[in-house]
Amino acid sequence: MNRRKFMIPVIDGHLDSLQAMFLPDDNPRSLIEQTDRGHFDIPRARKGHFAGGLFAIFFPAEAKRRRNKTAFPGKEDAILKPVESAFAQEIAQKGIESFYGLAEQSSGRIQVAKSADEVSNNMAQGVISTILHFEGAEPIAPDLTNLPVYYQAGLRSLGIVWSRPNAFGAGVDFQFPGSPDTGPGLTEAGKELIIACNRLGIIIDLSHLNEKGFWDVERLSDAPLVATHSCMHALTPISRNLTDKQLEAIRDSKGVVGINFCTGFLRTDAKLTANTPISDIIRHTAYAVDKMGIDHVAIGSDFDGAVIPKEIGDVSGLPKLVEALFEHGFDEASVRKIACENWLRIFTPSWKTNA
Ligand SMILES: [Zn+2]
Repeated sequence: MNRRKFMIPVIDGHLDSLQAMFLPDDNPRSLIEQTDRGHFDIPRARKGHFAGGLFAIFFPAEAKRRRNKTAFPGKEDAILKPVESAFAQEIAQKGIESFYGLAEQSSGRIQVAKSADEVSNNMAQGVISTILHFEGAEPIAPDLTNLPVYYQAGLRSLGIVWSRPNAFGAGVDFQFPGSPDTGPGLTEAGKELIIACNRLGIIIDLSHLNEKGFWDVERLSDAPLVATHSCMHALTPISRNLTDKQLEAIRDSKGVVGINFCTGFLRTDAKLTANTPISDIIRHTAYAVDKMGIDHVAIGSDFDGAVIPKEIGDVSGLPKLVEALFEHGFDEASVRKIACENWLRIFTPSWKTNA
């Protein structure tokens, strides 16, 4: 097989790597130099033909507590408790400083992207694009007055919730087996938030949102529906995954699902173990393509936020996934769509008004 094919660039719908730079209790790493810690740094990203991604800022429930998604917490765990808005705003500030700091210290290898054209131009020049995402709307004031401020600061993608309730909606936890239908839909503030995101040009991320909230977004939003890092409920019936009905709605909206590498969402037993083959990612990808078509499936690795198959290991292992997609039988045009082109297609209409 032609090795050049495995050099297809990848755009990733979800990484948690920014947290490593600033969250308390973490042993910070800069992401500039190569290390063997975590899943992402610039040298490893370049080895993996990583072209860009949505870089999440996550809002931990307690000042001293680092996020730990690598163990699914029980409902009683502090991480699932609501987060104070003022504290979330402090974390957002630190996260945004890290987000820009990463690009500034990258010696031109990374640029912040705020439009689809910027992502495309960066790709053409071999520069990695970082796109700002909030994983949960906790820093947003319920009257939405500070949403345009975060938009100006670069926010282009927003998860309404993480796996817990906030002023806007309610998230799914990690029940297995479990349904995503875990609670009430969006609050009135949540419904206003959807309309405001459409108007500004911010992607609304459905990953972590419960099913009633999902259908509220489906009804209210005029943008393509996007789940940045989720897998298939029909294959792994954990509450965090998407049902066939949800997949159909995403397809009908011309949206996209980024397939998550978290083994707990991929395996039939939902176990968190790196001893999980790449073929489990391919199985979910192929199912998603079968249900929605090739234009609606992408990658959402959850690097630095999940236990992932050791065959991939970290961002430098992305070419192994590309190779596995070819081995499964996808042709080059299809692999390119999954690897990067479907995300590029979504960015244009989602960021429409202000691009
Ligand atoms: Zn997540």
